[in-house]
Amino acid sequence: MDATSVERIVGRRRHPTLHFGRAVSAEERVYVLHSEECRSSTPDLRDCEYSIAQDRGIDAFYPWLFWSTRQDRAVELRVKRGWLIPMHAVAELTPEERRDPLAAYRRHGLGVWPQLLENEGEQ
Ligand SMILES: [Zn+2]
Repeated sequence: MDATSVERIVGRRRHPTLHFGRAVSAEERVYVLHSEECRSSTPDLRDCEYSIAQDRGIDAFYPWLFWSTRQDRAVELRVKRGWLIPMHAVAELTPEERRDPLAAYRRHGLGVWPQLLENEGEQ
């Protein structure tokens, strides 16, 4: 896919230093708009950590918590523990939820916390 198409899908211009993206719910797919800096310093964009995280998707339990209310709009991206995370999502967690992600799942009523426990145990 050419660079201009990604800008159109994500819905914003390429940023000099930041990565942005959009989770398109209808396609169940995440698009990553690499920064200008990344594009000029990374010969093969597949080597970018954001591309590697993109390949993992956002449907695993822990990242999904952050994406559940942030689909279908442009968000600044971060990579945490190898997963794509919307920039401001972590900041919206309460201190208790940061210590105990299960608390966040309960608050959002996602009801998947037993699986999260198993998932975390594998790491
Ligand atoms: Zn990149």
